[in-house]
Parts: sequence; C-alpha cells; structure tokens
Amino acid sequence: MANAPVNKILPYSVVDGKGSRVAVFLQKCNIKCAYCHNPETQNMCIHCGICVPACQYGALQTVDKKVVWNPQKCVNCDACIAACPHYASPKIKDMSAAAVFEKVKESMPFIRGITVSGGECGLYPAFLTELFTLAQEQGLSCFMDTNGTIDLSLYPSLMEVCSGVMLDVKAWDPDVFFSLTQGDNFAVKQNLSFLFALNKLEELRIVVVPGKMDAKAAILGIQRQLGRKNVRGIPLKLISFRPYGVKGDFAQLAPPSKSEMDVLYRLAADVGFEDITVI
Ligand code: SF4
Ligand code: SF4
Repeated sequence: MANAPVNKILPYSVVDGKGSRVAVFLQKCNIKCAYCHNPETQNMCIHCGICVPACQYGALQTVDKKVVWNPQKCVNCDACIAACPHYASPKIKDMSAAAVFEKVKESMPFIRGITVSGGECGLYPAFLTELFTLAQEQGLSCFMDTNGTIDLSLYPSLMEVCSGVMLDVKAWDPDVFFSLTQGDNFAVKQNLSFLFALNKLEELRIVVVPGKMDAKAAILGIQRQLGRKNVRGIPLKLISFRPYGVKGDFAQLAPPSKSEMDVLYRLAADVGFEDITVI
C-alpha cells in the first residue's frame, strides 16, 4: 500500500481540470519555482519549531523534537505557514491511497473526477497508481497536474489509469527554465511528446511572467516540437502571473498587461492552437 504526504484535499474544485473535481495537493516538489503560488507545498517540514509560537489556537506542539499538528484545534488561519521560513507546512498528513479515496467518496455524487497536484505529484507514482485505480473503478476521471520534470514514460501502470495530464511548460530555453526553477526541462519536453502520443495531454499551461521568461518561445517551442496540425486539439492555458501567495523576490513583480496577454493569444492562434484560454 502506497502512502503520500497530503497537504490538503479540496472536496470541490472547478479550476483543476474539466468539471467539478476533488483536488488533492501532495507535499514536496523537486524544483523551486520563483513564482510558486503554493510555496508552503515545496518542502517537507524539518521540525525546526519556528511556527509553533505563531499558532494562537494551541494547535501546534513540539513533542520529542517533532512538531505535531492537532487538526481538532486548528482553525486554518495559516499563521504557521506565514511564519515558516522553509517553504513547508506543519499541517501535513501521511495518507494511504485508500484513505484519500475514502475522502474522495464523500464528494462522489457531485464530481466528475479527481485531480492530483502538488508540490509535485509525480514524486509519488505508486500512490497515484493506487488512487487512480480506485477512482477509475468508480467511473471517475483522473488527472495529474505536474511540472513535467519526472519522466512519465517510466511509469506505464500509472499512465494506464491516468486519464490525462495537465502539463506546465514554464520556459522553453533550459537556462531560462533553470533561472525560474533551479531545475532542468529536458523531461518536460520528453513528456510533451510522450503524452501527445498517448493522447493524454489534457492541458498545457504557460505562466506568463514579464521579464523573467519568454512565453513566445514556449508557445513556438511546443508548436515546433509537436507540429502545427497536432497542436490544434490541445487545450492551451495562458496564465497571467499574479503575486498572490508568492514568497521572495517575485512577490514584487507586476502581472502582465492585457495587451501582452492578447499578443500571446494571437501568436498561439497563429501557430495553430485552437483551444486557448487566457486567465
Ligand atoms: S493554521 Fe496553523 S497557526 Fe492557524 S490554527 Fe492551524 S496550526 Fe495554528
Ligand atoms: S512547518 Fe516550517 S516552521 Fe514549522 S516546524 Fe516545519 S519547517 Fe519549521
């Protein structure tokens, strides 16, 4: 039985893939996006204790050098997360796929499927395979929302039960990708072709951060790699950077203007994308 550290489970979400879905956020990421909107999902807690006095509700305690969270006392004010300097959270539950699916079942009559996000959900392929198998048996569609830096071709059993992948293409040039994330985008490009061939590209996403990445290069790179006629049916979401929730230097950046996003929309349409959303 496979477990994973769960940051939170949203019983209903309409922004994590098609239709109403349960969204499961797993803890820990393998890259460090400077514009991460959920920076508290990046790292596992190192039990430094800094957040304990920030909790006004007695929901955090240090026991045997570990910070222990009491969900019964917690009011979800997130003061602990604001206090954490390590991009972590003390409110993480280690859960089995079966236990997560029990939570999913509570929303079952009202949802079309589940989406697992992060952190980076691709760090937990065995957990995802078990969870998606349970969900598919009940007729639910199962999406991964991933940064794409883990080679998904290594996990054929997971791909069999995964209905679709929402793939971030954060930058095309490897140096730009590194400057944004401290990571490598070789596997992102591999996954792009691999998922297209499997017909499992549920959505491509580009977060537009003016002056910090080249969204045009990302759009053109995708089109060159997959081919004009093949991008036609792939949903592309162009997402305006917003500083909400961002920690560090990028918290000071301004979002792109509407005219910048319009230019990108037209470029994407010109190179063959037909299903484009700008948010
Ligand atoms: S969110 Fe954090 S700080 Fe707020 S009550 Fe819960 S444990 Fe305490
Ligand atoms: S959540 Fe952050 S501040 Fe709190 S104990 Fe863990 S690492 Fe330290």
